[in-house]
Amino acid sequence: MMAQFLEIKAAHADCLLFYRMGDFYELFFDDAVEASAALGITLTKRGKHLGADIPMAGVPVVSADDYLQKLIARGFRVAVCEQVEDPAEAKKRGSKSVVRRDVVRLVTPGTITEETLLEPGRPNYLMCLARVGGAAGAYAIAWADLSTGLFRIAPSSAEAIAADIMAMEPSEVVVADTLVADEALAPLVMRLGRRLRLEPAVLFDGTTAAERLCRFFGVSTLDGFGAFGRAETAAGAALLAYLARTQLKAHPPLSPPRRVEAGSYLRIDPATRASLELTRTVAGKRQGSLLGAIDRCLTGAGARLLGARLALPLTDPAAIHARQDSVALLAADAGLRRRLREGLRGLPDIDRALSRLGLDRGGPRDLGALGEGLRRAGTIADALAGAALEPELAEAAAALAGRPADLVARLSATLADDLPLQRRDGGFVRAGASAELDETRALRDHSRRVVAELQARYAAETGIRSLKVKHNNVLGYFVEVPEAQGPALLAGGAFHHRQTLASAMRFSTPELADLEARITEAGAKALAIELAVFAELREAVLAALDAIRRVGEALAVIDVSAGLADLAVSAGWVRPVVDGSLAFFVECGRHPVVEAALKAAGGQSFVANDCDLSPPDASGAVAGGKAAAAGAIWLITGPNMGGKSTFLRQNALIAVLAQIGAFVPATKARIGVVDRLFSRVGASDDLAEGRSTFMVEMVETAAILNQASERTLVVLDEIGRGTSTYDGLSIAFAAVEHLHEVNRCRALFATHFHEMTALAGRLKRLRNATVRVKEWEGEVIFLHEVTAGVADRSYGVQVARLAGLPPAVVERAREILSELERSEQGEKRTAFLDDLPLFRQAAKATPPAAPSPALEGLAALDPDAMTPREALEALYRLKGLL
Ligand code: ADP
Repeated sequence: MMAQFLEIKAAHADCLLFYRMGDFYELFFDDAVEASAALGITLTKRGKHLGADIPMAGVPVVSADDYLQKLIARGFRVAVCEQVEDPAEAKKRGSKSVVRRDVVRLVTPGTITEETLLEPGRPNYLMCLARVGGAAGAYAIAWADLSTGLFRIAPSSAEAIAADIMAMEPSEVVVADTLVADEALAPLVMRLGRRLRLEPAVLFDGTTAAERLCRFFGVSTLDGFGAFGRAETAAGAALLAYLARTQLKAHPPLSPPRRVEAGSYLRIDPATRASLELTRTVAGKRQGSLLGAIDRCLTGAGARLLGARLALPLTDPAAIHARQDSVALLAADAGLRRRLREGLRGLPDIDRALSRLGLDRGGPRDLGALGEGLRRAGTIADALAGAALEPELAEAAAALAGRPADLVARLSATLADDLPLQRRDGGFVRAGASAELDETRALRDHSRRVVAELQARYAAETGIRSLKVKHNNVLGYFVEVPEAQGPALLAGGAFHHRQTLASAMRFSTPELADLEARITEAGAKALAIELAVFAELREAVLAALDAIRRVGEALAVIDVSAGLADLAVSAGWVRPVVDGSLAFFVECGRHPVVEAALKAAGGQSFVANDCDLSPPDASGAVAGGKAAAAGAIWLITGPNMGGKSTFLRQNALIAVLAQIGAFVPATKARIGVVDRLFSRVGASDDLAEGRSTFMVEMVETAAILNQASERTLVVLDEIGRGTSTYDGLSIAFAAVEHLHEVNRCRALFATHFHEMTALAGRLKRLRNATVRVKEWEGEVIFLHEVTAGVADRSYGVQVARLAGLPPAVVERAREILSELERSEQGEKRTAFLDDLPLFRQAAKATPPAAPSPALEGLAALDPDAMTPREALEALYRLKGLL
C-alpha cells in the first residue's frame, strides 16, 4: 500500500494527498504533519518507512468538506485519491492485493464547487493570464466560475493587466512560470500571495489554443463566440487546460466564452477600488462596503451578478439605459416588484446545482434544487406575463418561458419530498415512480416485517420474555438475551452462539441469516435502481443545460433589477441621466454607506450636498467642442472631520452606481460617462509592500497625472500631507495645475493647504468649496454642508480636543498656535506664488511662434565676408527689426 501511496504522491508532489482508506481520507509523511497543524487534528503514526515511523493523520470522509475548506482557505491544494474498485475485486486478485486507487480530482481555490466550500453571493473565479509577444506585447485574461459555468475572456495590456486582474477578485490566478519576471505583473505577486499559481509555459501554448477551445465546445470555429485575439485565445485555452489537469476526467459544463470588449467598462485601479470600498471594506468585510449597502438581492445568483456588475461598470450609455429601464419599471410597479421578490425568496441556486451535476459531483438535493428552481421560474414568468417590459426584462421573460417544463414535471414526479445529500444513501426516488423499485422495496419491507415478527415468536418459543432481535453492522440480525438466560439457548441447539458480552449473549439463526441476505439483496437492488434513475435524470438535465443556464441568468437579472428598485424606492434614490457629455451634476447627493450607518445609529441625519463639475456648456461636449468643454475642479478646504472625504467618496460612488445602471442617492443627477475613476482618499493599505505612505501616495498620484483623460473622474484627498509643509504644498499645487491644464478632467481635490485656494484666481475652471462649521462657546460644530468659498481656519486644535487629547496638551497647543499666527501677521505666505511662471507644461504645449524677421536676418549674415563697417550697419539694421 505504501508503494502505491508513494507512486501517487510523486505525481502530485505540490498537493496534500487525501488517500482514501475506508471511511477516512488519510494523509502521510509531511502532508500529515502540515495538515495536522493546519486543521488541529491528531498526528499519529502507522508502520515504518526506511526504518523511520510514518506520520499519519486522517479526516472522516463524511466531514471532509469542512477540512477541505480550511485547507483551501490557507492556500493548500489537495489531491483527492479514491478507491476506484470494489475491495472485493482486489481480494479476487489475491489476498495481498491492494485496492486500486486513483486521484479523481485536484481541489484548488479556483475550482471548488461544493456548496459548503463556497459563499452563496460571491463568484469563485479561476483566472488565467496570457501574454503574446514580449513585455510590450498583447495581454489577455480568461476567467471562469466553475460553480456556475460562467466563462469570460478580455484583452488587456501591460499597463492595465494588474488592475484588470484585481478587479475580478479571483480566487486563483494561473500564470506561466516564464512570466514571473514580467514587470507588469510585479504588483500582483504580493497582492495575490498563495492565490497565484505558476504553471509550465506549455499550458499557454498559443499554437494549439484555438483548437483546444473548439474541441471543448464542440465547434469548428470560435467566430460564433466573438473575435478573439491571439493572447485571448491562449488565455482561454490555458484555462481549459488547467481545468483538465485539475478536474481530470470530469468535463466541466462551462458556457461558451463571452468576450469583454476593451473600453466597454469603467476602469478602476486596485488602489481606488480599495479606497472606495466597493466590494469590501479596508478591513476586508463585505458589510460596510458599497456592495453591502446596495445588495438587496434575494438569491445567491443575484448577489453574484450584482458583484460582477460592480466589478465592471459600463461606459456605453445605451447599455446603461437598458439596465436602468429594468430598475425604473420595477421601481414604478410596486405590485410586480413584490410578486417577483416573493417568487425569488428562497429560490435554490440553480447555477451551482447544475454545475455540480455537470461535473458528476451532484447529489439528489441538486436535482431537487433544479426542479424547485425551475418550478419557481414558472411562477416568476407568470408574474411577468402581461407587463409591458423593456428589452432587458423582456429577454429575461423569454428565457423563463423557454424553461424545460417537461423536465420540471419529471423531476417532481420522480424525486421524494425529503432528499438525502448523497446518492449512495438512497431513498430519494418517490414511491410510485418506478414499478421495479416499488416491488424491490416491498420485498425488503416484507422481510423486515418478518424479522420483527420473529422476535415475538422466539420469545414465546423459548419463554424468555426479554429476548430481542437486533441489528448491527458486524453481526447483521441477531437474537439477544440477558446473560442469565444464555445457557438455556446454548443448550437448545436451534440458536448459534455468536458473542458473549458482560450482560448479554447474542445468537444467530438460519432464518435470520436468510432474511438478512434477502434484505441486503433487496436493498442493493433498490439502490442500483435508484442510481439508474438518478443517472437518467442527470442526463435529462444536461440535455437541457443551455435552456436551464438561460433561466438562471434571467432570474439573476430579475433579482438584481428588483433589488435595486426596492433600494431606490425605500431609500429615495433617483434615476440619473447618463449620457456622452462631460457633465457631472449631482443635486443633494448622499453617501450610501455613511447615510445607512447614521440611520442605523439613530443619531443625526445625513446632510445632502450638491456637486457640479460640468463644463460651462455641457451640451458643447456632446457636439465634440473640446476646448470649451472641459470639466471643473473643486478645491475643498475645511477642518478635519468636516465631511470632506465623505463628500469626495460619495460623488465617486455615485458615478460608479450610475454606470452599473443603478439609481443613485440624490434628488437629481446627470453623469457624462466616466472612462476611468481615480481616487486617493485616506490611508493606503500598501504599507505591507514596504513603501512609505508618502511613496505610495506619490506612485498613485503619478499614475493619475499620467493617465487621466478628460473623461476621467479624479478624486484626491490631501495630496502631499506625508512630507514637509513646503514640499507637500508644492506638490499639491503642481498636481492641481496639471489636472487643470493637461488632464483637463473632472476632479474633486480636498486639501488642508489653505494657500491653494489662491489658485482659483488663475485657473479658470477651478472653484473653491468648503465644509461649513459653526463655532459656539469655543466649541466647533460640524454642519457637513459643502458650500462655495474658502475655509477660514482649520480648527485642528478643537478637533484634537474632541478626540480626547489631555486638556493640558490642548491648552499648550492653543498657545503655540496663537504665537505662530501672530508672528506670521502681515507676511503674505502665498505671495511667492504670484512670482512663479505658471504651467511650464502649458507653455511647452503652445506651438512655436513663427520665426522673427530679426532671427531670419541674423541667420542670413556671413560674418567672414563682411567688412567691419558692414558688420556695424547690419547690427543697427537687426536692432531696428526688433
Ligand atoms: P474629513 O474628511 O473632512 O476629515 P470625514 O468625511 O471623514 O471628514 O467626515 C467625518 C465624519 O463626519 C464622518 O465619519 C461622518 O460620520 C460625518 N459626516 C461626514 N459627512 C457628513 C454628512 N454629509 N452628513 C452627516 N454626517 C457626515
